[in-house]
Amino acid sequence: MLLLVTRLHAEGNPETTPIDPFRIVGNLYYVGSADLASYLIVTPKGDILINSGLESSVPLIRSSIEKLGFRFKDIKILLISHAHWDHDAGSAEVKRGTGAQYMVMDGDVRVVESGGQKDFAYPEHRYAAAEVDRVLRDGDEVRLGGAVLVAHKTPGHTRGCTTWTLREKEDRRLLDVVIVGSWYVNPGYRLVDRPGRAPSYPGIAGDYERTFSVLKNLPCDVFLGAHGMYFNMLGKLSRVRAGSTENVWVDPLGYQAAVAERKAAFEAELMRQRRDSAGDELQQ
Ligand SMILES: [Zn+2]
Repeated sequence: MLLLVTRLHAEGNPETTPIDPFRIVGNLYYVGSADLASYLIVTPKGDILINSGLESSVPLIRSSIEKLGFRFKDIKILLISHAHWDHDAGSAEVKRGTGAQYMVMDGDVRVVESGGQKDFAYPEHRYAAAEVDRVLRDGDEVRLGGAVLVAHKTPGHTRGCTTWTLREKEDRRLLDVVIVGSWYVNPGYRLVDRPGRAPSYPGIAGDYERTFSVLKNLPCDVFLGAHGMYFNMLGKLSRVRAGSTENVWVDPLGYQAAVAERKAAFEAELMRQRRDSAGDELQQ
């Protein structure tokens, strides 16, 4: 497999540091930065972009698409991993430049349509609001030119956090691709009900629990996510540069290990917050 990776810039902020775009498997390409992942799925009927990134990411995504020999204007559908500014702030600009249909999971629609203002954790992180053209529900399919993407609602990190799955053919083998929406409990997220301090949103802990059970059960050959760091993208790219002949993106064991590791981190945080909450009650 030939990957179009010639250069990696390791310095600076990985969210804004450009890297050369590359083909992952089949018709699926990486068009993001050194850490902020954007994916392009190319079909004969036009293309699907997952994650518009920061407002400043849009010109980089466009130039990555053009370097691969495709056209920005061919984006017909825009999807996101979740409604945080580092994945969706560029959406208004992508819609304006392409006329793409914006399809967003139900729990995240209010956030993207308010330009971040309705986010439960970061209402001060504002960006250009973008209108949603199709509201997605858990398990919905997005179809274009033979490509079929399935939207798995994996909430907690945001209310409508979405893990995308699709199948791509590589070397006559059909591969299950998983693009993890997010599995992080961010600093300041409140998972439990404490006196005078409600959870970040009602039911957030149960959402994370269900999310980890969904992720654990997704068939995965090709392991990807909303940030390159979820799946050690830079490490895998350096193996490619070093001449690895295996397909470094096929990593089912890495996927299962990462899910287990993030689940354990969530459970430890939940325990810690429950202990603190019990402490509140003892003091009263
Ligand atoms: Zn996020």
